[in-house]
Amino acid sequence: MENPPSTGIIIILFVAWLPGMNDLLYFDSEQIETVNKATILAEELISDHFKISFSEWKRYRYDIKTLKSLRPEEVTEKAFAQIVKYVCNPERKLRGSLHTDYYKICLQDHVILKALSREGDLPLFPLAAYIVTHELIHVVRFSRFLQSFLVTAEEQEREEALVHSLTHELLSGVSIPHINYVLDVYIHCRNMETFRTAD
Ligand SMILES: [Zn+2]
Repeated sequence: MENPPSTGIIIILFVAWLPGMNDLLYFDSEQIETVNKATILAEELISDHFKISFSEWKRYRYDIKTLKSLRPEEVTEKAFAQIVKYVCNPERKLRGSLHTDYYKICLQDHVILKALSREGDLPLFPLAAYIVTHELIHVVRFSRFLQSFLVTAEEQEREEALVHSLTHELLSGVSIPHINYVLDVYIHCRNMETFRTAD
């Protein structure tokens, strides 16, 4: 006797699509090279402005990383960068360092690339120079205790205006194609970075 056809149970799985880090746009190697050049420029401008010698620079504990080197919690959609403060155990303070805190400037490749695609023919270098200079000024001011990391919204707004103004001042003396456009437009940007203290 033939077996009756088994009743098939069709299970339809609705899998919610959640964007993960794999779905984001990353800088390619040429763009990372551009960001590195922007970082060298930013460090030169800031060391001149804040009178920081080469050996003193080593005492500032920070890194500038692009998306490929970020942890999931260091990624944001809301800004060009996220500054994450890592508070180290004072007993592990490195000899010669200014203090125990370490700042990771997490560049958000996907947000920066999206802005460039909106801008049309704006190259990466002037925008990267603006973003990295701006974020490094924040880090120097935190490290020198000129500004606290966690402040009220009003204080944050004042600090942001000051950092924009300093960024403008430092970059306005540099000859970079399209920099005047970036200085005019991005000085008003309110989505430069978010701040986060690591657990
Ligand atoms: Zn800022």
